[in-house]
Amino acid sequence: MKSSLKFTDLGEDFFAHVKTQKLENTSLIHVNESLMKEMNLKASKKELLSIFSGEKRFAEQNPVSTVYAGHQFGYFVPQLGDGRSCLIGEVNGLELSLKGAGTSPFSRGADGRAVLRSSIREYLCSIAMQGLSIPTTRALAIVRSNTQVYREHIENAAIVTRVAESHIRFGHFEYFASQGQNENVKKLADFVIKHYMSDLEQGDYLALFKNVIESTAIMIARWQAQGFSHGVMNTDNMSILGLTIDYGPFSFMETYDPSFICNHSDTQGRYSFERQPSVALWNLQRLADALGTLIQEEQIKEALSSYEKILVKEYSYLMRSKFGLILQDEGDNSLINNFLELLYTNQKDYHRSMRMLSLDLMKQFNPKYVLRNYLAEVAIRKAEDLDEYEEIDILFRILERPFDLHNGYESYDSEPPEWAKNLELSCSS
Ligand code: AMP
Ligand code: MG
Repeated sequence: MKSSLKFTDLGEDFFAHVKTQKLENTSLIHVNESLMKEMNLKASKKELLSIFSGEKRFAEQNPVSTVYAGHQFGYFVPQLGDGRSCLIGEVNGLELSLKGAGTSPFSRGADGRAVLRSSIREYLCSIAMQGLSIPTTRALAIVRSNTQVYREHIENAAIVTRVAESHIRFGHFEYFASQGQNENVKKLADFVIKHYMSDLEQGDYLALFKNVIESTAIMIARWQAQGFSHGVMNTDNMSILGLTIDYGPFSFMETYDPSFICNHSDTQGRYSFERQPSVALWNLQRLADALGTLIQEEQIKEALSSYEKILVKEYSYLMRSKFGLILQDEGDNSLINNFLELLYTNQKDYHRSMRMLSLDLMKQFNPKYVLRNYLAEVAIRKAEDLDEYEEIDILFRILERPFDLHNGYESYDSEPPEWAKNLELSCSS
């Protein structure tokens, strides 16, 4: 399999060539077959294991680890980078990244490894997010090994192969801006526009920024609607394409609680569930700072003012859909908020409650069949005019269990036909 990596076109300021470091006794524990197909990757299990464990080179070039900076818990760290991951190649416009394949010049003394536990979590969450239509990096395979690594206790090392159109983060821009390398900020922005936002005009950095605002707002709205907490929303974990990236202490909220904090190390609750929308805006402001030499301040301000609107629009669309409120109505918000308040006070599980609402509650309170006047009229006409009583029997059985679906009688929930629109009823019975 051959492929070249376009990220390396950016030049050596942006990355370091690295060598993956061998793991002991590896095995391939899961492969994302549909993603393999989508990428048109065909290889034997043995070959896949050697690629996904970093033993065999995938592209013609050496793997690369990229350099970035970032605001971690509000504080700027001038150099981070891919400390335990490397890009190994690209197929059909999708980059492959091995997470846990060894150290790089950006490891800052850490071991370059990922443990099996967190690799499985990342692997499963990537597919779960995709299933929920939340933009995300994807995961192609997991390799486990007998190499031992030290965390709170000894654990086995593993590698997740991560896949995304691009792994560029806000932090990449912050790195070059903080170094005063404005030419490289521009180079990176040009690169992003050319390869990932090809509908924009080259040099339209404001449009690039607006794109990032929009995709970030949509991603966050979807997190909030599905109760997803990321846990480490540092700017180095924010994708320039608005993908959920770097799964660590993430958690789907269970008992409904807006102040939920999934990351034990987050003692201040900076990244609590309810703060995610405002944190993402703060992160966008840090990106704006990094783009300061390319976009005027006034334009940045104006662009940022669209963030909340986009987020709220997407979030309320999703919440209304979860409640089955197809058409927008003034009362929707208070209905939704009152329900969420109820969940909170009664410490109810968010997902089960919402699912039950649609499976049981809503179906129990919204009859499919109603004794519409025209239905009665048909039965009456048949009885009176034709001496036929079958229609009465049908209606009887349907109306006895109006919330169930009765096979063969699906259309009995139709709105009145034209002839019946003006049926007049009087009390002369
Ligand atoms: P995170 O917030 O978990 O995405 O990681 C923050 C920074 O630490 C990134 O630069 C990672 O590459 C780096 N990092 C995390 N864990 C390791 C590790 N085990 N070895 C080397 N670098 C790491
Ligand atoms: Mg990270």
